[in-house]
Amino acid sequence: MTDTQVVENISGVYRRISNAAEKAGRRPEDIKLIAVTKTVGIQHIKEAIDAGLRIFGESKVQEAREKIQDSRFKIQGADIQWHLIGHLQKNKAKTAVELFDLIHSVDSAELAETINKYAEKAGKTQKVLIQVKLSDEISKYGILKNNLVELIKEIGGLKNLSIKGLMTIPPFFENPESARHYFRELRTLRDNINELRVTGCELRELSMGMTNDFEVAIEEGATMVRIGTAIFGERKYCCREA
Ligand SMILES: *Cc1c(COP(=O)(O)O)cnc(C)c1O
Repeated sequence: MTDTQVVENISGVYRRISNAAEKAGRRPEDIKLIAVTKTVGIQHIKEAIDAGLRIFGESKVQEAREKIQDSRFKIQGADIQWHLIGHLQKNKAKTAVELFDLIHSVDSAELAETINKYAEKAGKTQKVLIQVKLSDEISKYGILKNNLVELIKEIGGLKNLSIKGLMTIPPFFENPESARHYFRELRTLRDNINELRVTGCELRELSMGMTNDFEVAIEEGATMVRIGTAIFGERKYCCREA
């Protein structure tokens, strides 16, 4: 990967986001691009910042911490946000609250309560998404959709937690059309929860869509797409959730 490649890739991704939004009658600015930087080195992340990206997603707390604390990386005046998109263990919740603007992977009441406790100590309201598992075999993590409303009722009152929406990771399909019904299902779940007024506030965000399927996700209502490979190239190892 050269500098110019990252820059070109980013404009290509923006163009694809715009096209997909237009096709769906949506405004491109309603879709946030989260650049997924797991395994990506500081140099390429800097290039992405120079090219205008501001939201970065990491899967692992430890790896994220090294990057976020790296002084080479602090860019004057750049308002950079970090999101945790991978599974969070309770024993890393304290660090996660220190590091992340948004945690996409809350999937149990215990985890939510732990995050809330550390957020309270830090004097912060932690923004989170609930990760939903739409089918049993597709992913290790996430709350099963049948338990979602109950979970939100349970944690909706936590004072230092702000639930912003839902996240899901469908299985990988060669043909992204095969993922469409998962995306549609997540949107329906969100809309139903809002209609039932399960929480005091409206859930707006749908974090769904990766390199292989983000256009379909946008057509189905994604407000955040999490894109690594299409920006930074193939990762050295294979992982979707690690
Ligand atoms: C790695 C990862 C992504 C990005 O995947 P690409 O296919 O490289 O775009 C998105 N979401 C999660 C949760 C990931 O772990």
